[in-house]
Amino acid sequence: MKVSLFPFLRPFLRETVAGLFFKLIEAGLELMLPILLARIIDIGISGRDIPFIYKTGGQMLLLIGAGLVFAVLCQYCAAVAAQGFGDKLRTALFLHINRLSVSEQRKIGTESLMNRITSDVERLQLAVSMLIRLGSRIPFVVLGAVLASVMIDLPLSGVIITGAVAFLVVAAVIILSVFPLYTELQSRLDRIGKTLRESFLGVRVIRVFRRRQHQRERFDVTVDEHEKTAVRAAKISSFMQPSTQLIMNLAICGILWFGAGRVDSGALSTGQVIALINYILQILVALILVANLTVIFTRAAASRKRVREVMALPLFSDRIDGMSPAGTAPDADFSLEFRDVTYRYPGEGTETESRTALRDISFCVAPGETLAITGTTGSGKSTLVSLMIRLADPTEGSIRVMGRKTTDVPVDELRQKISVVHQAPKLFSGTVAENLRWGNGNADEQKLQEALKVAQAKDFIEALPEGLNSRVERNGRNFSGGQRQRLAIARALVKPADLLILDDSASALDYLTESRLYHAVTKSNRETGRTLIVISQRIAAIRSADRILVLDEGRMVGFGTHRRLLTDCPEYKEIVDSQLFGKEAT
Ligand code: ADP
Ligand code: MG
Repeated sequence: MKVSLFPFLRPFLRETVAGLFFKLIEAGLELMLPILLARIIDIGISGRDIPFIYKTGGQMLLLIGAGLVFAVLCQYCAAVAAQGFGDKLRTALFLHINRLSVSEQRKIGTESLMNRITSDVERLQLAVSMLIRLGSRIPFVVLGAVLASVMIDLPLSGVIITGAVAFLVVAAVIILSVFPLYTELQSRLDRIGKTLRESFLGVRVIRVFRRRQHQRERFDVTVDEHEKTAVRAAKISSFMQPSTQLIMNLAICGILWFGAGRVDSGALSTGQVIALINYILQILVALILVANLTVIFTRAAASRKRVREVMALPLFSDRIDGMSPAGTAPDADFSLEFRDVTYRYPGEGTETESRTALRDISFCVAPGETLAITGTTGSGKSTLVSLMIRLADPTEGSIRVMGRKTTDVPVDELRQKISVVHQAPKLFSGTVAENLRWGNGNADEQKLQEALKVAQAKDFIEALPEGLNSRVERNGRNFSGGQRQRLAIARALVKPADLLILDDSASALDYLTESRLYHAVTKSNRETGRTLIVISQRIAAIRSADRILVLDEGRMVGFGTHRRLLTDCPEYKEIVDSQLFGKEAT
């Protein structure tokens, strides 16, 4: 699907057209100057008519002044249109990226998406601005100057036209050979971003493992590759300017050479020769601008391709008709059912066994029930959660929520019903209260306090001088891992959802706090009739759940109560034995 970027410029069509128009007027005024100059030379200087020189000179000054005014007007229009276009495009890209499924986002990659939304959009913005400021002017000036020279002297204008055609050929060759390099350049920029990001995020590990040298070398290689491509592109582009100069200066030589003969024979006046040279200079300036513009436009074309690539990715919710009805009331009978669900992570080797994260999973959770999921690291627990909240859809089989297939429920509606706390929860910069209200903007302070209490976060928040209004820094780094987890749980509790999922969300807490937390969550859930899914590797935290699902390498190896599983499920027994001792296990 080809996506047009024109709709983003459409709101600024008025400025665009006005800008082009103002520029045309300015160019027209400039084209009149050589004619006036020729008259000063032929009439004023030849006839020693000083007042005529002053008068015509004054007219030239007026034309220049008027040209300046129109140029400024055009500049203003161009700025409004280009910035507006960039703003609209950036916003649209941002919204689009936010509505992509996680696997679509991964196809392009975080670094590349970031570059596309910043540097690529900026290139396009510059191109729009340049198009308005110079796009109309250049063809107009070139055509106008050629026409004017044809009118002054047909034979000599042949020299100018030959020069212009020669230039077009040179320009075409250069543009065609440099275009692929600019596309390559942007993807090299992505790679630099990727290496940088990895180095910054992994800075501690890199230092501890003394891999600084290695990381630096990797970065050097990436930068070198970028540099080589950039230099190659610059080398080819740099032919543009000198070849333009050469062609046009040869044309000036031609005019002087042949012009001298025609002035001698009386077919042409000195002033007219000067005017012709002036037109050549105007063409030269215009063509040099073209040379610079080609760089801007070829880069913009490469950027356009990259932006359209993102826009063409299908939206995740596209597969659903209609939006969620606003403000659906919480459902007391929230049920969840997995039917023969298999999930493979999308990747290069499509059907390889190793990428199958879940295989033939079938189970159901009744309303108000507490389901625990356990299994070793990498057994597929978090993948199961991604499927429930539709960060991805099953490769085979289906998931039903209250009897409806999740793929038939609008994503917004589904996610409104579910509150999730992930393994490594993210907090956002702002205040504690703002963070807690993410899932429920209207929650009153009492509700927040209750949630904090259940999440065992009340004590440390109350100990802060500003309590609920204390600052949370980016990613919540001014809180410890355990505090972040408890705040995230409180945030999930504030959201009025029917299903609460805690995915390894108490892993950073000590045993005592963890069991207090689960006790409080279970109690509050029983009061509200909310369904609960707890994922944990700690048996102590899950043994009292209504039912426990045991995963092993993506397969379901057990489903039942703690007591049943102890006898029926060797994998479960093994986990239990490693954690509990003696009588406690029974
Ligand atoms: P758990 O939460 O039980 O530790 P996960 O659900 O995170 O396990 O992972 C299950 C399996 O899926 C693992 O083998 C992991 O390597 C794989 N996996 C997880 N995320 C991705 C991903 N984004 N792309 C490819 N494979 C993945
Ligand atoms: Mg996990």
